[in-house]
Amino acid sequence: MKKLLAVILALCLTIPCFAALAEDLPVLKMGTNAAFPPYEYYDGETVIGIDAEIAAAIAEKLGMKLEIVDMEFGAIINAVATGKVDFGMAGMTVTDERLQSVNFSDSYATGVQVIIVKEDSPIASLDDLHAEGASYKIGVQEATTGDIYCTDDFGEDAVFKYKTGPDAVLALTSGKVDCVVIDNEPAKAFVAANEGLKILETAYVEEEYAIAIALENTDLLDSINDALAALDEEGVLDAIVSKYIGAAE
Ligand code: GLN
Repeated sequence: MKKLLAVILALCLTIPCFAALAEDLPVLKMGTNAAFPPYEYYDGETVIGIDAEIAAAIAEKLGMKLEIVDMEFGAIINAVATGKVDFGMAGMTVTDERLQSVNFSDSYATGVQVIIVKEDSPIASLDDLHAEGASYKIGVQEATTGDIYCTDDFGEDAVFKYKTGPDAVLALTSGKVDCVVIDNEPAKAFVAANEGLKILETAYVEEEYAIAIALENTDLLDSINDALAALDEEGVLDAIVSKYIGAAE
């Protein structure tokens, strides 16, 4: 009986203690745009995906608790720079312009800008968009590299900006634009979810994805890079990526 009491007492002391410990962990806030499968998207109320899982693994390594803040893609850099969130992770490409406002971690993935068209589209390649006299309407997700490249290459008038990738794809299926330029993995997910679309073979631009951190927060930059290196070494990064992208590809 004494022994049982001792066990119960020990349990009472340790379990709440662990629970309290988990709850008291410092919070690490991630800014993202959760409409970008397979990197970040909703499963019910929860944001899941490659970025969400890598971020959770990083937070665990840092002894912190991850909190995901969903916002427009175009708001993430500013949220990071002003300390509203601790870091931004959103299949985000490292660009010189963004490097003026934030630091980027080591790259953890690559992306390629691709072109989605309707199956019966006259557009067969990037060259067709550039062709003399061509005046195609190009849908993009606002403030993304797809938006930046297309606006540079084809001019403001040709580019139609939407808040999310799915909104841009809806504009394509409903005939408001002739193509959508977006990152390859989300493109595959959007084409799989919508009838009558295809991705052109011609890739547009190749890019590196990384985590954005405030310029002055170099301690967090170092800790995130250390955590990423350890997760890479342990095979965790590969395991997360292949869970969402699949070994078949
Ligand atoms: N990789 C693109 C960029 O950084 C798109 C990212 C996104 O839409 N989440 O601009």
